[in-house]
Amino acid sequence: MEIKNGQYVLNGGVNALDIADEYGCPVYVYDFEIIQRQYDRLVDAFKGIDLKINYACKALTNINILKLIKKMGAGLDAVSIQEVRLGLHAGFLPDEILYTPNCVSFEEIEEAVSLGVKLNIDNISILEQFGQVYPDYPICVRVNPHIMAGGNSKISTGHIDSKFGISMYQLPLVERIVQATGMIVEGLHMHTGSEILDSEVFLNGAEILFNAAKSFDQLTYLDFGSGFKVPYKDDGIETDIEDLGKKITKRFRQFCTEYGRDLTLKFEPGKYLVSEAGYFLVKTNVVKQTTSTVFAGVDSGLNHLIRPMFYDAYHKVINLSKPDAKSRIYTVVGYICETDTFGINRKISEIQEGDILCFKNAGAYCYQMSSNYNSRFRPAEVLVYQGKAHLIRQRETFEDLLKNQIELEVLRAESVKV
Ligand SMILES: *Cc1c(COP(=O)(O)O)cnc(C)c1O
Repeated sequence: MEIKNGQYVLNGGVNALDIADEYGCPVYVYDFEIIQRQYDRLVDAFKGIDLKINYACKALTNINILKLIKKMGAGLDAVSIQEVRLGLHAGFLPDEILYTPNCVSFEEIEEAVSLGVKLNIDNISILEQFGQVYPDYPICVRVNPHIMAGGNSKISTGHIDSKFGISMYQLPLVERIVQATGMIVEGLHMHTGSEILDSEVFLNGAEILFNAAKSFDQLTYLDFGSGFKVPYKDDGIETDIEDLGKKITKRFRQFCTEYGRDLTLKFEPGKYLVSEAGYFLVKTNVVKQTTSTVFAGVDSGLNHLIRPMFYDAYHKVINLSKPDAKSRIYTVVGYICETDTFGINRKISEIQEGDILCFKNAGAYCYQMSSNYNSRFRPAEVLVYQGKAHLIRQRETFEDLLKNQIELEVLRAESVKV
């Protein structure tokens, strides 16, 4: 988003306030060009090897986003059978989807097999069961490399106490199961968590996977998961993709020579592809001055954007209605009946009641983590695509709140005796 002729615009010319006007607030807005830019950057950084990007769709699963991401040439990383089905619905072929479940039932795994998608197994118990029933169905094994990395404990998944993956120390056991059942391990996978900054952490992890790979002779790909950090603040640091690309590419080619076959290198970014593409537009209901703080209270809360409260995530806030007013200090809060602070003591251009504020980096894990808490409606979603804004999900209505509820016959008005 940039200022043009005194107005905030997206995609070079789509007026952000017009979107708020037309579709109302709160509303999530996605700029597809930014998703494309991020994808291209990643592909560029890793040219010279066979690269496949699987979009980790839990970040944002609107069906239009999935279709566009399919069109770019990416595959899909799914973490639930429902995501698998959304992916198929959006047009991904079964073998373009890698299903990476954790602690799901064997029935759900069997459903994935019947849908024909690729499967990533992350525990010994399922591996044994699977090998007995489906020895001919090639699989990927999720390795836990035991590295501590990631933005915070909730999104750090590769450390020793993590519930994810099969410990690299248990790989001899995996080999024995593979030998006993004759199952085909076509891929090895590792995902250390979100927000890794350091290329070295990535490279250390890569060595662990390379080392493990030597014990499996039918591999066709290695999947390095994700964890690319995107900048949330103006001076925020991000993973240096170009630097990482150079280093990994070189080492990967070397490894393929050692292994004796050209493998595909896979990544599964969620945040990296869609975070910056998203904006969350809200209206200021109340400006409230207390003895120490000026609050800007908006028509949303942790029901729509929970990352600040759940992960202490930083989302930059700008006032779309006052592109060039003088800045003041505000604490931006929601309308939920518990403390739901979006940002403390933020410098924002002077806010008046009715002003439209915008949270940045609202593409990943934002709409997707929204709820009906306080019986509020989930927001609308708008996609800016080819220079135009399109509604891609309507705001919920009162009927949605009642939709799956079953009113008991005995409690219907005429039968309730007080
Ligand atoms: C969540 C997740 C990702 C994506 O992580 P980001 O930080 O959004 O890039 C990738 N792979 C797996 C297995 C995941 O669970």
